[in-house]
Amino acid sequence: MTDTVDAPAATRIPHWIGGRRVEGGSGRSGPVFNPATGRQAGAVDFAAVEEVDAAVQAAKDAFPGWRATSLAKRAELFFRIRELLHARREEAAEILVREHGKVFSDALGEVTRGLEVVEHCCGLPTLLKGEHSEQASTGVDVYSIRQPLGVVVGITPFNFPAMVPMWMWAPAIACGNCFVLKPSEKDPSASLWVAELLREAGLPDGVFNVIMGDRVAVDALLEHPDVAAISFVGSTPVARAVYEKATAGGKRCQALGGAKNHMIVLPDADVSAAADAAVSAGYGSAGERCMAVSVVVAVGDVAQPLVDAIKERIPKVRVGDGMDPSSEMGPLVTQEHRDRVAAYVENAPAEGATVVVDGRAGVPSEGFFLNPSLLDDVTPEMKAYVDEIFGPVLGVTRVATYEEAVRLVNESPYGNGVAIFTRDGGAARQFQFEVQAGMVGVNVPIPVPVAYYSFGGWKSSLFGDRHVYGPEAIDFYTRGKVVTSRWPDPATSRVDLGFPQTR
Ligand code: NAD
Repeated sequence: MTDTVDAPAATRIPHWIGGRRVEGGSGRSGPVFNPATGRQAGAVDFAAVEEVDAAVQAAKDAFPGWRATSLAKRAELFFRIRELLHARREEAAEILVREHGKVFSDALGEVTRGLEVVEHCCGLPTLLKGEHSEQASTGVDVYSIRQPLGVVVGITPFNFPAMVPMWMWAPAIACGNCFVLKPSEKDPSASLWVAELLREAGLPDGVFNVIMGDRVAVDALLEHPDVAAISFVGSTPVARAVYEKATAGGKRCQALGGAKNHMIVLPDADVSAAADAAVSAGYGSAGERCMAVSVVVAVGDVAQPLVDAIKERIPKVRVGDGMDPSSEMGPLVTQEHRDRVAAYVENAPAEGATVVVDGRAGVPSEGFFLNPSLLDDVTPEMKAYVDEIFGPVLGVTRVATYEEAVRLVNESPYGNGVAIFTRDGGAARQFQFEVQAGMVGVNVPIPVPVAYYSFGGWKSSLFGDRHVYGPEAIDFYTRGKVVTSRWPDPATSRVDLGFPQTR
């Protein structure tokens, strides 16, 4: 399955440094597959340390000119980027389908949500406004300004190859920084496509660079003395390691990790709406979303009708090649990941769970497909509950009370997204008050914040204290400076060795 290559001959996917494609010289590369066929479609260069140095140097060289570019000109450029991305969003979506496997409509949704972050950044003159206090002391004014950090880095996961990089490069560049992106090696082409689009929009060479590769590239970026900040999104073990290494080296770091998102369904919820939401949020993008619903917590006697309603919907989910407009769910990203996810279904009965729907049956003969699976009677000590499965396997955990449901969420090491389904406003209000997670949905299964709020989880879903995009991104990608100024009348000047006080 993996030894054949899609025609035309497997494409080489190089780096982007200083405004042009640069073929890697390390002699190392990784395969990129079309998950719907299982065939290799490309080979992505893996950077050596020298190539990382070249990308950081290009960004460093571009920084003085870019940070001096007026807010008006930067905003004008962002409007052009927005227009180009909007006009070509279908082109981008097709690249995502071919390398990630998600269906075209979902890929288009990914580009659109990323585009919202770019649109937010079009308002950069307002976002970067400081504060001014006139007459803070007699004849003294005080004002604050926000300045860019310099060279900043984004390291991104496979599951949103366009949107997650946009969460980072758009605010970073809007704030006046120069950027080096290290995308996932599993689906890297969208990043090169964006690099070319940014150049076409008029972004100066070196402001945006892409380094392809694996751990060698990540380590070189984390250790580089000219890198000021790291934004990372990926799995929890890598996020933790990246955060520790980056901060030990004195860099600013935000590292978003994995998730295990619970959807609580109270007995008064509309069962049909809750089942629709569970199926949509559990199996959309084949469960490869950090905000996917992974555990449905059924409270009281809603459990059986809810399991029945989810089961009834599963056979209607159309699984197939993401470029087929009738497909609703595509394959998983690699054969290895597909097999890892399938193992949770295989092992579920031995752990004591009930396999209500087995997604290993009836999959297409080629590609990395797994159909939706439903496990019932999942309890908190089972691996199917504890692990982030990151595939189309939905587990149902039955509990007696609302309190038990909240305790489950609050005891989870993750705290990314969570949702409650109920018709009781008081219960929903209590839930948002006490639940320990960064993003909460009330009758909304995937509560990804809009671009003018910020995105981020709690606990092991985020290392660092700044969320991505929105206002917190402006904080993250800038540092504050406060200026205290006086224009004294020379006639009133005198020597005063006391500590400065306001008068
Ligand atoms: P991953 O952690 O394997 O990889 C993420 C990035 O880190 C990639 O660029 C990869 O090349 C690099 N990397 C991998 N192993 C490394 C290592 N040992 N040392 C240094 N760098 C390494 O994650 P993934 O499989 O690409 O993406 C899926 C994960 O990302 C899931 O856990 C998902 O929940 C998480 N995710 C989280 C969010 C969020 O907002 N919290 C969003 C999207 C994805």
